[in-house]
Amino acid sequence: MTGVVLNNVVKRFGDVQVIHGVDLEIEDGEFCVFVGPSGCGKSTLLRMVAGLEETTEGKIHIGDRDVTDMDPSERGVAMVFQTYALYPHMTVAQNMGFGLKMTGHPKEVIDEKVAGASAILKLDPYLDRRPKALSGGQRQRVAIGRAIVRGPEVFLFDEPLSNLDAELRVEMRVEIARLHKEIGATMIYVTHDQTEAMTLANKIVVLRDGKIEQVGKPMDLYRDPDNKFVGGFIGSPSMNFVDATVSAGKVVSPGLGKELELPVNVPEDGRKVQVGVRPEHLEMNPSGDTHTVELTEALGGVSFAYLTSETGERIVVEERGDYRTEAGATVGLTFPIDKTYLFDAQTELRIR
Ligand code: ADP
Ligand code: MG
Repeated sequence: MTGVVLNNVVKRFGDVQVIHGVDLEIEDGEFCVFVGPSGCGKSTLLRMVAGLEETTEGKIHIGDRDVTDMDPSERGVAMVFQTYALYPHMTVAQNMGFGLKMTGHPKEVIDEKVAGASAILKLDPYLDRRPKALSGGQRQRVAIGRAIVRGPEVFLFDEPLSNLDAELRVEMRVEIARLHKEIGATMIYVTHDQTEAMTLANKIVVLRDGKIEQVGKPMDLYRDPDNKFVGGFIGSPSMNFVDATVSAGKVVSPGLGKELELPVNVPEDGRKVQVGVRPEHLEMNPSGDTHTVELTEALGGVSFAYLTSETGERIVVEERGDYRTEAGATVGLTFPIDKTYLFDAQTELRIR
């Protein structure tokens, strides 16, 4: 069993604490994604698992081994970085086999493992090329191949697709998902991109300022966020948040042009709250007049309408189908009450 367990893990650089007591269990064979905005501590946490950063406090287990103070080479992990870090003077095959060569493996073993990784990643036509004669996507495949060849128990990826253009990113994302299916190893994957997190993960860990905000399956986080940060971070475009107050047990939101009866424990009168509703759950009603369409973006299969309420709040609505609202129109809004969230304006915690 090669799950990964973090117990109250803390990281300080000098006086500056960047990881604040993280507890996490990643199961054997799981694809776990750390996601969060730039600077929230994703790479630091991953590098602590890899052994590239010392763990200031707490424990890290891989399988049943306490690896907290082990060298990276003893941990049974292999890491793939955003910058591919290939040796320019070596061929693809040599790059992939180099780690094994350094640890004294015989040539036949190295050749066999390189051939295996090459088959998985479809690198056979390129084995004799040097990195400079490869595209970005091919280079990233070689970097992944180098990790596979080492036969790690746990794969660690730090934003491996961030240097690729949008089209290749999607292609490589699918390849990484396929790779995980084929190899079945535990993988930890760091990204700031919520789409990558949603599409790749069995388990998403949302981080902010060195703390875990929420852990869960992608669709559970999407449907059931614990707080405003997770609600806003997961889903694209972001959830709309609109100011509201509580009066006579009802949520009054001028920005939504409505009094809402939400099936939650509505707090006491006078409390400041925010209503959250996703662009894909809003519908524009052309006979209403509470909102003005300022701008529309037609992407083809989907359009986004940017509305302003009478109270000046901005709201994004997703529109599909053949008819698309145009800028300048005045509309009302309708939305399903069971897909409408309530958050405390102060604590930003979900009110359920
Ligand atoms: P992410 O990968 O989520 O963008 P990082 O883990 O790289 O974030 O960084 C988290 C925080 O730790 C940042 O505030 C960063 O400036 C700080 N940090 C990272 N490495 C060091 C270091 N070697 N010394 C001091 N601070 C660091
Ligand atoms: Mg990083």
